[in-house]
Amino acid sequence: MRIVVVGAVAAGTTAAAKARRGSEDAEIIVYERDHDISYVGCGLPYYIGRNVGSIDELVPRDAGWFAETYGIDVRTGHEVTDVDASARTVTVRNLSTGETFTDGYDELVLATGVSPVVPPLPGVDADGVFVLRTPTDATAVREWIESRGVGRAVVVGAGYIGLETAEQLVGRGLEVTVVEMEEHSMPLLDADVAERVDGELREHGVDLLTRTRVTAIGTADDGAAQAVTVTADDGEDEWSVETGVVILAVGVRPNLELAEAAGVRVGETGAIAVDRSGRTSVEHVWAIGDVAESFDLITGEPLWVPLGSTANKMGRIAGDALTGGDLEHRGILGTSIVRVFDLAVGQTGLNEGRAREAGFDPVVVHTEKPDRPPYLGGQQMLVKAVADRGTGRLLGAQVVGPAGVDKRVDVLATAITFGARTGDLFHLDLAYAPPFSTTKDPVHYAGMALE
Ligand code: FAD
Repeated sequence: MRIVVVGAVAAGTTAAAKARRGSEDAEIIVYERDHDISYVGCGLPYYIGRNVGSIDELVPRDAGWFAETYGIDVRTGHEVTDVDASARTVTVRNLSTGETFTDGYDELVLATGVSPVVPPLPGVDADGVFVLRTPTDATAVREWIESRGVGRAVVVGAGYIGLETAEQLVGRGLEVTVVEMEEHSMPLLDADVAERVDGELREHGVDLLTRTRVTAIGTADDGAAQAVTVTADDGEDEWSVETGVVILAVGVRPNLELAEAAGVRVGETGAIAVDRSGRTSVEHVWAIGDVAESFDLITGEPLWVPLGSTANKMGRIAGDALTGGDLEHRGILGTSIVRVFDLAVGQTGLNEGRAREAGFDPVVVHTEKPDRPPYLGGQQMLVKAVADRGTGRLLGAQVVGPAGVDKRVDVLATAITFGARTGDLFHLDLAYAPPFSTTKDPVHYAGMALE
């Protein structure tokens, strides 16, 4: 069997490695147009913030490692430009020589990921305007800041990538403006939780402009960005914010060119529709990771939340299924966590709004309890939990606080995964000693409030 994988970051390399474990004989070829593979995209903001010394720490593996460890042929600098699904071939361009060739496959795995959205703003092509997706991007941002002694930054978009980057830039001593067109930062959170994130940003000196859009990027004589023009939502107020660097973090879109060439079905979420093993609508073509849809664990509906945690899981599942295994994807809750200065912000499952959209009658509680006893430095943690009124099924939670958020959001995600009802939470036998928790944990309190 000859397996051709396109894309060599989280999903593609995981699928290839798992396929090798499932079959010693399969020929496995991975094409990647970039020169870096298997890198830790999630660490890039921390490289910009100088909390990661060398970019190499985020790119721990190369093609040689995959050849030696797994007998997998990873070809970097090779772009797959076309797919002929009936002939089962791909067209590949060697980007360093310009040579184009055709390669055959028995199974084709699209792990082509996403690209950052670049809004069509006047001045968006200026020097000093960056997106953040790859080690090359992060290196370019850091070099730009350091070589020009940049003291002011504008981050466009207050999702998790924008906020992690803003935090790291503040940590380096830059003055940072974050521009967000929605009412709050982190628009996927409920507004009453997102407000806390807004407060944290402002407390740390970030100039957070919400309900505001960037309408143009102005340049200096040398062609470098020097200011952004912003307009308030009401359309009346327009002003200019000086800057030495602009980071665009307004979202990502799936890289669908090959999916379109292969004729696979794209789902309503805008990502490739797949079954629970990663098969697309076209025989012998699979799709995994950020480019593909996943399933909502609660509703069973297609859901697209592009995250590294999910991309890895989908890669492992497809690698197993490709080689005769029976692993299937059970779905996701979109569980995620982000640090914003002294706050950790975690979420899992449905928020209040999405629960309603999904046809539930949500009952919502807010509890605020310390993560540990105050005599050991415990600090208040907000747990907003959502359950279905009729069945008592736990549907989702958002957790915000300075410490212990990761543990609580993961406990709640686990409980939701196994179909917990509100009455079950109090009965969870959770670890307790004063340095870690309180006799009744914040998760217990949330459960008791929901009963
Ligand atoms: P990608 O990483 O997008 O890789 C796809 C690869 O395919 C690319 O290298 C691309 O060059 C290649 N490719 C595309 N088309 C072709 C072609 N035609 N021919 C050859 N090669 C091609 N996730 C989390 O879970 N937690 C986090 O904290 C987190 N933080 C993040 C922070 C940042 C700054 C960023 C950028 C991402 C973060 N993520 C995080 C998301 C995570 O990095 C992605 O979900 C993950 O990388 C997706 O992996 P993937 O393999 O599906 O796609």
